[in-house]
Amino acid sequence: MMERRDERDAGDMVGRKRLRLSSDEGSDLFDSLPDDIVLLVLAKLSSSARSPRDFINVLSTCTRLNRLALQPAVLKEAGTNTVAVRAKNWSDSAHRFLKQCVRAGSTEATYFLGMIRFYCMEGRKFGAALIAKAAIRNHVPALYSLAIMQFNGSGGDKSSKDLLAGCALCARAGDLGHIDSIRELGYCYQDGYGVPRNLKGARSLLTRAAAMEVACCVRASSEDVIRKCETRLDAIMSFKTVPGANPGLGHAYWAGSGLQFSPRETHPANRFLLEWFAIQADSGSDPGRVGGVKLCSDLNCGRSETRENEFRRCSGCANVRYCSRGCQAHDWKVRHKFECSPMPQLVHHAVDEGF
Ligand SMILES: [Zn+2]
Ligand SMILES: [Zn+2]
Repeated sequence: MMERRDERDAGDMVGRKRLRLSSDEGSDLFDSLPDDIVLLVLAKLSSSARSPRDFINVLSTCTRLNRLALQPAVLKEAGTNTVAVRAKNWSDSAHRFLKQCVRAGSTEATYFLGMIRFYCMEGRKFGAALIAKAAIRNHVPALYSLAIMQFNGSGGDKSSKDLLAGCALCARAGDLGHIDSIRELGYCYQDGYGVPRNLKGARSLLTRAAAMEVACCVRASSEDVIRKCETRLDAIMSFKTVPGANPGLGHAYWAGSGLQFSPRETHPANRFLLEWFAIQADSGSDPGRVGGVKLCSDLNCGRSETRENEFRRCSGCANVRYCSRGCQAHDWKVRHKFECSPMPQLVHHAVDEGF
C-alpha cells in the first residue's frame, strides 16, 4: 500500500524534490542527478500513474523533465491507466501521445490505440494490426479481443470468420487466466464451434470459468457473505462434488447465499468505446444503435458491429445482441435475466417452481 502511494506520488515528488533541493542546499541539486536516475523514476511513474493527467503533469514541470519523460525508455513502460485517455478528452495531441507510446513499444498503448482505431475511427486494418501486435506479446485483453474479431469476422464479411483462430486465441488467453476466454472456449467445445464437439471438455472449462468467477466475487464480498459461502465454495472449487450444478449457470447454485455478481471491471479501452458512442448518440434514439451501428448489449463492452447483423441475438427474446458469449453470460447475470421474458417461458418456469 505504501509502495503504491509512493508510486502515485512519484510525479509530484520529482517536482517537489527539485524545489527542496534548490532552497535547502542553495544550489539546484536536481540538475546534478544523472539522467539515468531520473529516467528510472519517470519509467516507474509511466507504468503506475493513475491517469494520463498524472503523467502529463510532469511534462510541464520543467524542460529537462519534459525531454526525459518523452524518451522511449519511459514511454515504453506506459501502463494501462497512463494511456487511458477518456473519449471526451480525445484530441490530436492525445492521439500523438498514444502513437509515441506505441512507437516506444508500450503494449498497453498498442492495444488501447488499436481498439480505438478499429472500432471508432477509419483505418480498421491499422487498428487490427495494433491489436494483433499486442496479442503477440501475450496481452490478455488483446488476445480476447482478437478472438472476438475472428469469431465475428469483424472488419470483413461473413467469410472472414476464422473460428479455429478464435479458439486458439481463447485457449492462449485462458491459459493466462482470462475467465471470459475460458468460458468462450467451453461453449465452442459444447457447440462444436471451431473445434470438434467435446462435452466433457466443455463442462470442465465452463465449470472452471464459473469457479474462477465465484472466487473473484468472494474476494470482493464482505466477510459475512464469505462465511455463508464457505461450504459452497469448497464444493464448487472441487468440481466433481457439485453434480447438480450447471457450470454454465454457476450463479444459480449460489442463489440465496448473499453473494452478489457485481459488474466486471471495465477495461479503459472498453470504457473509451462506451463513452465514444455515447457522445455520438442522438438523445432519445435507440441506445443500442448509435450512428448507424449497433453496439454489443453488454453495458461494459462498447464494441460495435462492423457490418449488419454481425453480432448474435439472444435466442430468448431477440431484442439484444452480443459480440461474444462472455458478454452474453455477464449481461445475463447482471441485467438481462430480469428483462428477457418471453411469456410462455415465464409461465413454464413458474409451473416448474410449484407456483
Ligand atoms: Zn460485447
Ligand atoms: Zn433475451
